Amino acid sequence: MSKNNKNNPYQNAMSQLTKTAKILKLDKAVLVKLQHPQRILKAKLTVKMDNGQTKKFDAYRVQYNNARGPFKGGIRYHKQVSMDEVKALSFWMTIKTAVVNIPMGGGKGGIIIDPHTLSQTELERLSRAYMKAFYKYLGPSQDVPAPDVYTTSQIMDWMADEYAKLTGKKQPGVITGKSIAAGGSLGRDTATADGGFYVLKAIANKLKLKPKQTRIIIQGFGNAGANFAQLAYKAGFKIVGLSDSKNAIYDPAGKGFNYNLVKSIKAKGDAVTVCKINDLKCQKLYHTTNEKLLEKDCDVLVLAALENQVTEKNAKRIKAKVIIELANGPVTPLADKILAEKNLVVAPDVLANAGGVTVSYFEWLQNIKKQKWSKAKVKSKLKPIMDKAFIQVWQTAKKYKTDLRTAAFILAVERLAKAMKK
Ligand code: GLU
Repeated sequence: MSKNNKNNPYQNAMSQLTKTAKILKLDKAVLVKLQHPQRILKAKLTVKMDNGQTKKFDAYRVQYNNARGPFKGGIRYHKQVSMDEVKALSFWMTIKTAVVNIPMGGGKGGIIIDPHTLSQTELERLSRAYMKAFYKYLGPSQDVPAPDVYTTSQIMDWMADEYAKLTGKKQPGVITGKSIAAGGSLGRDTATADGGFYVLKAIANKLKLKPKQTRIIIQGFGNAGANFAQLAYKAGFKIVGLSDSKNAIYDPAGKGFNYNLVKSIKAKGDAVTVCKINDLKCQKLYHTTNEKLLEKDCDVLVLAALENQVTEKNAKRIKAKVIIELANGPVTPLADKILAEKNLVVAPDVLANAGGVTVSYFEWLQNIKKQKWSKAKVKSKLKPIMDKAFIQVWQTAKKYKTDLRTAAFILAVERLAKAMKK
């Protein structure tokens, strides 16, 4: 993921921090602390494959900062995982938990693997091996992992079970994003999309965008992108473009896809082509590439895939007025500059996708207090947190005359500095 320095996610993260520190005239000692993770854990996981052979996989856990609470953040299974990526993601988690003001810190983990190449039993052994490697450093009051790209509630369940075996004690609060049966929270599966949608509505309100006249393109059809598509469609927004990791479709007429199409993509999971584009006789949909989709005409571009999607190379050609970052790090700092010159509003990842970790925090609370909240209760607690964070970020941007990302960083770094001085 980091072929050249410009797109090294950790360097990008640090340049965002430097910019914030300058504006805040941040205390040097605080800055230095925020420039380094507190602990880096690495392991080579040995996993028995179904054919009897053993294979080794590189695994990481970075515990970036716990000044505001236990380290918190997902575990990613992806072939492009790297140490610098995990470091960047764990730093962004530190900022994110501070932006929404939940009492958690920042951490992240990852394994270099394409999980689609593994059988279920291999995946289970790999996930249990991850827990075995790092469990001494994890725990409800130490470090609480969660799902991220290509990790599921099933994987969280295996890890929670392995933790119980290793410590001799059942502690579901060691990990979030579990299945409901294993102590997961209702509403955690849709939380990232829910939170992002509150942010979209708040921005639409500020910019006076009416749903029916607002065309949305969504890149990425995993948990966040697919659920977001459904919410936006139901609220009357026009979804004119969608993509997954392989395919992209676009409606140049700008009318928006019909609901059944959106639902069928979601039901089938991954590939957009399964929606049988030719069957939609009433609409002309066009295949395009994932890269070209980003540059199509629309009002709101939702980035729900991976890092470094909008860079200095394509930023000039983005036609959207608003970008919502449901993925982590999809817009690079160089692209941010170009987009700001175009007056494009970017709702940054550390705000727009914070619904996921916020409901993870609710799950952790329920586990610790031995409670079970209804879905309605979860949603009614998520909305005010997202709305408040949005307003605070918006007002900070006005106060410092800056973009929303820098504003979110200012807000978070102030909170972190306060906690670190204590
Ligand atoms: N992986 C998600 C994120 O990047 C969720 C983390 C969590 O729930 O701890 O925010």
